[in-house]
Amino acid sequence: MSRFMNERYRDLHEYVPGEQPKERRYIKLNTNENPYPPSDAVIRAVREFDAGSLKLYPDPDASVLLKKIAETYGVNPENVIASNGSDDVLSMIFAAFGGNGAAFPDITYGFYTVFASLYDVKYTEIPLRSDYTISPDDYMNVGKLIVIANPNAPTGIALTTDEIERIVRSNPDSVVVIDEAYVDFGAQSAVPLTKKYDNLCVVMTFSKSRSLAGARLGFAVGNEALIRDLYKIKYSTNPYSVNSLTQAIGAAALDSREYYAKNCKKIGKTRDIFADKLRSLGFYVTPSLANFVFARHGTIGGKYLYRSLRQKGILVRRFDTPRIEEFLRITVGTEDDMETLYEALAGIISEAKGERT
Ligand code: PMP
Repeated sequence: MSRFMNERYRDLHEYVPGEQPKERRYIKLNTNENPYPPSDAVIRAVREFDAGSLKLYPDPDASVLLKKIAETYGVNPENVIASNGSDDVLSMIFAAFGGNGAAFPDITYGFYTVFASLYDVKYTEIPLRSDYTISPDDYMNVGKLIVIANPNAPTGIALTTDEIERIVRSNPDSVVVIDEAYVDFGAQSAVPLTKKYDNLCVVMTFSKSRSLAGARLGFAVGNEALIRDLYKIKYSTNPYSVNSLTQAIGAAALDSREYYAKNCKKIGKTRDIFADKLRSLGFYVTPSLANFVFARHGTIGGKYLYRSLRQKGILVRRFDTPRIEEFLRITVGTEDDMETLYEALAGIISEAKGERT
């Protein structure tokens, strides 16, 4: 840290993204990207995009895109705000609604603690149950900003909308955020509840189910007043956060519902088959409804498995976080990717004979 850095950031531990390695080709199953390409409509929109228009600033409200998102989700454009990936709108949420502190699970998306620290929001981490599920009872009358990823990351385990509704109803005076980054792979969306509750904010992304992680597009849906608060933060930081090419391809992606639904279904099927194969190799695997699985071997350590896979050219994710050090979070790739990974794991396990590192 230089001597110029603001003192208040001295203890800030920034988010560490999953690796994007350049030194060799890996089977990359570490950042929950979609293995399938964007739709033809998106590829066409990129080709037909008027590059000359880049001399102009983008529409700060992304109006055309907002209208399409609103139509897709059965809400009004006033209920939606677009952002530069969903991390961007999550950041605005912590800034806007963290005044009374925040609460989220102890095992969840690592960025929540970073945003809380960045904006000086005091936070409580509510432990998952021993089976890694979220207990809705632990979120009754919390009276702080509540942030829940549904399905949760990195466990992939989802709450039902009834459980979410109970949480939202019992916290009428604070905002409940449901981060639905992975919802399209098999869980239920809470968006319809935003019409009933003015304290519910649902966050979504184009990065996972719509294969657009590189385009950086996310959005939030909620009551109009709540969305206006987020605009206040957006217009106080970066009004042009969603660039014009991304606005165009985001709109095109929304025209390809069938293509993306088919991909999500395929990924869900690949996930369930792969999870069963892991179980047959002696892994405990959480019941994931996301595009990743979360698994711990009965005898062989997570670090050892992570390193051995890396040597074999397969990248997965591992977290140095209490309770989950022995787990691997494995993104669901193509059927071929998962077959290669399964063979590699089977080989490592038969050679390791109980190694723990
Ligand atoms: N929420 C969760 C739970 C995530 O895992 C991620 C991906 N790292 C994000 C939000 C952010 O994704 P993006 O900024 O690409 O929309």
